[in-house]
Amino acid sequence: MRALRWHGKKDIRCDNVEDPGIEQPRDAIVRVSACAICGSDLHLFDGFMPGMKHGDIMGHEFMGEVVETGKEVRTLRKGDRVVVPFTITCGECDQCRAGNFSVCERTNRNADEAAKVFGHTTAGLFGYSHLTGGYAGGQAEYVRVPYADTTHVKVPEGLSDEQVLFLGDIFPTGWQAAVQCDIQPTDTVAIWGAGPVGQMTIRSALLLGARQVVVIDRVPERLAMARAAGALTINFDEESVLDRLRDLTQGKGPEKCIDAVGMESHASRSMDSMLDRAKQAVMLETDRPHVLREMIYVCRPAGTLSIPGVYGGMIDKIPFGAAMNKGLTWRMGQTHVRRWTDDLLARIADGQIDPSFVITHRAKLEEGPALYKTFRDKDDGCIKVVLTP
Ligand code: NAD
Ligand code: ZN
Ligand code: ZN
Repeated sequence: MRALRWHGKKDIRCDNVEDPGIEQPRDAIVRVSACAICGSDLHLFDGFMPGMKHGDIMGHEFMGEVVETGKEVRTLRKGDRVVVPFTITCGECDQCRAGNFSVCERTNRNADEAAKVFGHTTAGLFGYSHLTGGYAGGQAEYVRVPYADTTHVKVPEGLSDEQVLFLGDIFPTGWQAAVQCDIQPTDTVAIWGAGPVGQMTIRSALLLGARQVVVIDRVPERLAMARAAGALTINFDEESVLDRLRDLTQGKGPEKCIDAVGMESHASRSMDSMLDRAKQAVMLETDRPHVLREMIYVCRPAGTLSIPGVYGGMIDKIPFGAAMNKGLTWRMGQTHVRRWTDDLLARIADGQIDPSFVITHRAKLEEGPALYKTFRDKDDGCIKVVLTP
């Protein structure tokens, strides 16, 4: 089959590889009908994430048709159409039973190694580092889905691939980011990052009844998409984020602040992507604006910080004293995808939202390597790429 594989920093290739087969009785094989490139894939593309090996198959946003099931799979059969959440969940451990699927205790088969490197572990993730289980991803023609009974969302008839594809990651991610803010009708919600996750977060915050949503980015097309949803926008290259947010809230700051940027924000303000890692390490020691720092400074006392943006390792120069003394609540994490998907699928089916609004680029899988670059560099108005094998 054809698959997009990681061959090192900024080197994704479309290769011929062997088809996957059933390895465990709870596996299913899915023929991929659509897949997408996520901002989290860019952390691998940029070489920020340890534990990748040459030839790893990329991709954790995908859906398709079940073509084969292992002998212990009970709820799926050949021909079923499924969206596959990026978090692999056993459904049986204490965390899965509590709905904390992204910290499933069983599906990261390299959990011990991850704990040594990161000081923690997560559920197994598709198409990511070997420290998250090293499972082959879905930017491919076929994919093996482990724990298939508990790691799928069945798609009802009548909904297109594009309407449901983002149930596997960015829609529940934006939703969880907003739900974690416990949004009140009087709230201003400030969202850093108008990428795909930010866009889903904006719609979620509005659906959940925020009074005002303010979005911070610098990419014109992304800010325009945010305004189309009804958000106010701040271009951080053109004006002071903190001054404008204070102006919009009678000097008090937004009650709820969401970081939909993640570790890229270390590198994004003015110094940009040509930096090598050594220079970035130096930059972390400076007082350069950083999303987390801005959120802590500007958030209203007793407010909430919600962090869907992905971080790895240490972050320096975080004004923790301000966070403590302001009494801020921090909510964060990889998304517990399956916790939200029944509700979100119903909202899509009854027409409350169609997440496909975010797609700007559609192409064949073979064009994936070029589109990684387009998405990374935000060229050609690119906000979200969907690939079809
Ligand atoms: P993206 O890279 O397309 O979007 C990030 C956006 O942030 C860009 O538009 C960029 O211009 C903007 N940005 C960069 N620096 C900024 C700054 N200092 N201030 C304001 N905006 C800034 O990525 P995405 O797909 O939208 O994903 C966003 C983040 O969410 C990533 O870190 C990704 O890994 C993470 N993510 C987390 C989960 C989860 O389970 N928690 C799931 C999916 C994605
Ligand atoms: Zn993702
Ligand atoms: Zn589990």
